[in-house]
Amino acid sequence: MPKKVVVIGGGIAGIQASLDLADMGFEVHLVERTPSIGGRMAQLDKTFPTNDCSMCILSPKMIMCAGHENVKLHTYSEVEEVRGQFPNLKVRIREKARYVNIAKCTGCGDCIAKCPVKVPDEFEQKLSNRKAIYLPFPQAVPRKVTIDGEVCRMIKTGKCGVCKKVCQAGAIEYDQKDEVVEIDASAIVVATGFDIMDASLLPQYGFGSCKDVVVSLQFERLLSASGPTGGHLTRPSDGRTPKKLAFVQCVGSRDERMHKYCSSVCCMYATKESILAREHVADIDTTIFYMDMRAVGKGFQEFVQRAEKLYGVRYVRSRPASVQPGKDGKGVLVTYETKGLAGEQVTEQFDLLVLCPALLPSRGSKALADRLGLKLDEDGFLVAKDIRHPVDSTRKGVLVCGFACAPMDIPDSVAQASGVAARVAEILQGGG
Ligand SMILES: Cc1cc2nc3c(=O)[nH]c(=O)nc-3n(C[C@H](O)[C@H](O)[C@H](O)COP(=O)(O)OP(=O)(O)OC[C@H]3O[C@@H](n4cnc5c(N)ncnc54)[C@H](O)[C@@H]3O)c2cc1C
Repeated sequence: MPKKVVVIGGGIAGIQASLDLADMGFEVHLVERTPSIGGRMAQLDKTFPTNDCSMCILSPKMIMCAGHENVKLHTYSEVEEVRGQFPNLKVRIREKARYVNIAKCTGCGDCIAKCPVKVPDEFEQKLSNRKAIYLPFPQAVPRKVTIDGEVCRMIKTGKCGVCKKVCQAGAIEYDQKDEVVEIDASAIVVATGFDIMDASLLPQYGFGSCKDVVVSLQFERLLSASGPTGGHLTRPSDGRTPKKLAFVQCVGSRDERMHKYCSSVCCMYATKESILAREHVADIDTTIFYMDMRAVGKGFQEFVQRAEKLYGVRYVRSRPASVQPGKDGKGVLVTYETKGLAGEQVTEQFDLLVLCPALLPSRGSKALADRLGLKLDEDGFLVAKDIRHPVDSTRKGVLVCGFACAPMDIPDSVAQASGVAARVAEILQGGG
């Protein structure tokens, strides 16, 4: 019998760990809270520093994962409890009711077209709406629809039933209940990633009060061909193409009042998004307001220089003090100092402003850590056992990787995930 490993979190880190473990012959149970694996990388348009298409790299891995004979996906699921000690862990997983029989659903989308309920789309960062029955994104794995029980009229009031009427596969099951499964696992991998800070907590930056202030993940969706504007870069207030764009770095990170740490990837993704914006709009002018440029990875400094020299990106070392709506609520007025604290105060108009908010351990990480008996650091990231065991957690048999441990980019998350898989094999062969 192959040994079983439960991987929690189906982002790029969890997917890579699952694939490596499965290739080694372990039976992997990949538990993902949302209806599809993919994590944040699925929301990105391109990835720095090569600007490769994010989905073109991720999608084959998602498909390989779902099709691997040694991987069992538990999407729309969460780990409720872990009992026992390494290497005899009992992991209880709650598979939430989708109200759809996924063995029957063909992913045709007829139900989505007819559903009358619209709610803000989380995948599109609320820039557009989805239906109550939905596929989270076109390349979702598994390609099965889910009914959001919180908003579905039939589930809430018993009045509707349109999706059931149009579903030719007979997949809709309004009376479906959550299911609980228990896995006898030898080890657990935690790869629960990150969430983005609510930028309206810092009202001086105008998020929520100025229409043309968006956050970085929203901007990724505005750049994406599969995004809410079909890849046409437009601003929310009037749908016009922005010609003057600005980014504000460190919104809530490296800030004693909010989150003291550096979110690590923002200097680079803002640079990437600036280059991509110029590829969409040839005559766009872009300014990045930053505190210090953190371009420490291989090829990163060159990437920034390329943005400056070839794409005309203007880097301004200043932290804007305030953001106000422009005339008639369109565009923004950004007030900042030009030369440090004693400098001149300037107010400049931009068509669109992108905020780069702090990136936080994903929602519910504290509760999960408590359930698993793991230690978190003061910022809420998972703590490694010690410097010689960077992917071991503080509990034997529970390993950690990706953004859940510390802010890190995709290559580092993938490298750590492969390290985790090797370490699982090592400890299960008696390695210390
Ligand atoms: C705007 C932006 C642009 C970026 N651009 C780049 C780039 O160009 N290049 C680059 O290298 N990096 C980039 N990054 C960073 C990149 O997104 C991360 O490095 C990467 O997503 C980390 O992968 P992960 O698997 O650790 O976490 P995630 O991608 O966050 O995946 C974690 C997964 O775990 C799931 N999960 C969370 N909690 C639970 C739970 N309790 N139970 C089950 N599942 C759970 C989540 O739903 C999610 O699917 C960017 C980040 C941002 C914000």
